[in-house]
Amino acid sequence: MKHDDCIFCKIIAGEIPSAKVYEDDDVYAFLDISQVTTGHTLVIPKTHTSDIFETPEDVAAKVFARVPKIANAIKEVYNPKGVNLLNNNGIFAGQSVYHLHIHIIPRYDDNDGFNAQWKTRDDQFYLEELQDMAKEIHDAI
Ligand code: AMP
Ligand code: ZN
Repeated sequence: MKHDDCIFCKIIAGEIPSAKVYEDDDVYAFLDISQVTTGHTLVIPKTHTSDIFETPEDVAAKVFARVPKIANAIKEVYNPKGVNLLNNNGIFAGQSVYHLHIHIIPRYDDNDGFNAQWKTRDDQFYLEELQDMAKEIHDAI
């Protein structure tokens, strides 16, 4: 269902122009206007869903199913050294458009515009604690 106040729904409907990379019945992909790195692409479902929490399994499956061929096409054209996939959910996680999207970000070098850093805490958890945590999540599924 199209949401009237959603910029990505408007892109899918052709009401706002975009640099289309791919389209089929369920999925649309276009170049991110910010081009964090060259070839930076967004893959979105045609069905409006605001974030990963609201996304039904079949919609998620369709969106992610298209990612490999689009990533391979970007790889063929721009020959990046690698590719990061990113999906931001919630303002705290950096989401700015509330229509689910997967960023495909080709990587070229250390100063190519994308930088994801996180501190590892491998030495701070015993396996038993991880298993307790895992059980909590498992039981919530
Ligand atoms: P996020 O911050 O993960 O929600 O990503 C939203 C992305 O949408 C940003 O990287 C924006 O550059 C991109 N974006 C917003 N409006 C447009 C547009 N009209 N065309 C292409 N990309 C857009
Ligand atoms: Zn939308």
